[in-house]
Amino acid sequence: IWDACLRVIQQHIPEQSFKTWFEPIRPLKLYGKVLTIQVPSQFFYEWLEDNYVNLLRKALDYAIGRDGLLEYSIIVDKGNEKHQPLTMNVSTQKSPNFTKPDNFATDPRLGTNNKDKDKDQDSMNLDTYLNPNYSFDNFIEGDCNRLARSAGFAVAQRPGLTSFNPLMMYGGVGLGKTHLVQAIGNYIMNHFDNKLVLYVSSEKFTNQFINSIRNNTLQDFTDFYMKVDVLAIDDVQFLSGKEKTQDTFFHIFNHLHQLGKQIIMTSDRPPRELQGLQDRLLSRFKWGLTADLQTPDFETRIAIIQKKIQSEGISIDYDVIEYIAHSVNSNVRELEGVIVSLMAQASLTRREIDVELAKNTLRNIVMNEDKEVTIDTIQEIIADFFQITIADLKSKSRKKEVVYPRQLAMYLAKEYTDLPLKSIGYHFGGRDHSTVIHSIQSVNLLMDETPDVEETLQKLRSYFK
Ligand code: ADP
Ligand code: MG
Repeated sequence: IWDACLRVIQQHIPEQSFKTWFEPIRPLKLYGKVLTIQVPSQFFYEWLEDNYVNLLRKALDYAIGRDGLLEYSIIVDKGNEKHQPLTMNVSTQKSPNFTKPDNFATDPRLGTNNKDKDKDQDSMNLDTYLNPNYSFDNFIEGDCNRLARSAGFAVAQRPGLTSFNPLMMYGGVGLGKTHLVQAIGNYIMNHFDNKLVLYVSSEKFTNQFINSIRNNTLQDFTDFYMKVDVLAIDDVQFLSGKEKTQDTFFHIFNHLHQLGKQIIMTSDRPPRELQGLQDRLLSRFKWGLTADLQTPDFETRIAIIQKKIQSEGISIDYDVIEYIAHSVNSNVRELEGVIVSLMAQASLTRREIDVELAKNTLRNIVMNEDKEVTIDTIQEIIADFFQITIADLKSKSRKKEVVYPRQLAMYLAKEYTDLPLKSIGYHFGGRDHSTVIHSIQSVNLLMDETPDVEETLQKLRSYFK
């Protein structure tokens, strides 16, 4: 029975995880529908429960049936193998958010090498360390991330052997830190047979640490981490102010580093700004390489959008891509979010994806998030205020009735959006950035000369609220 379970499990997780977590388990007995397995430690049990409860349920369903139960026996004293039958079960009640795919029990595909979509989905959810969807192949390189990417790739090829140890990558939210660090982990998993790679968020690390204190399993916890060949720890800013967790991390760090094991870390800010992190830890970070990730420039945004729509299997006209790239420049996650909602909009309304639809989608997103105003809103308000059309604003017209509103619109676009001048120019009929600069300067000059200008601006601003 346990062998049958193992076969199911093996199908669903990377080999390394299987070796680490399932090979050490010994089946003890099967009594009715209750299978008892022996696990090496309390920490081990917790890890299984934390990360593999759904997978275990799945395996039980398959091997025993829907009402199969699992009990753990935990070895408490390793010395003389005395074990206390601490029984707990992963019955269905134990994991409230467990959902059983309807076709599971009878699905003949299970246990075969069938690489269908469900399976990939599962392996992603069940194995929380590495997500196979993050790779170097689907990471777009640009000036914004070149150093981090190439250092990451070097580390992936020769883990522990480069001078980039630790490798510390930092940057704002949604700029690809998790993607890169996971890509490194996946690459190592796929290219080295015997390297144990562990990816963990700092939050999870902290929780595990706290639990291990509570359950008196700190030794297990540190032993476990000290065994890995590659440790990737994400978002270390989360460790700020958590002194005890930092102490333990420091020990693990030193131990691994001494053994020449690779350590990779990410943070949302540069190390020098990591307040609440002990100096001795910070000084360790400086031993290796620190590389930053910045917001992608226009060309990189275009490439990322293209890659994303290609992976979704759709095609979108270049003018729409350009529109998006000129309108969203905060981070990659947001860029991806826009594309996803755009596709959803298109399929809901059965419309073609064009600039008009992109415009509406963006407006909705911005409104929902209650964030800054878009350039479209600015143009609408200005057009309405001056009784001209948006087309006028974008036209080549040099008429006074149009030029002044257009200048004000650009001025406000600069003030309200964080778009680069080049993109603002794009939204005004494809003007170049020097025209935008000129407009802004003109408004500044006018303001010095005529007090009404400031007043008009105030009025316009009040419409944005
Ligand atoms: P962070 O961890 O820095 O907050 P993520 O790594 O989670 O950011 O990235 C957010 C999203 O953007 C992910 O879906 C990721 O795949 C994608 N992404 C980020 N950078 C790139 C890039 N250079 N090329 C392709 N996709 C990227
Ligand atoms: Mg992240």
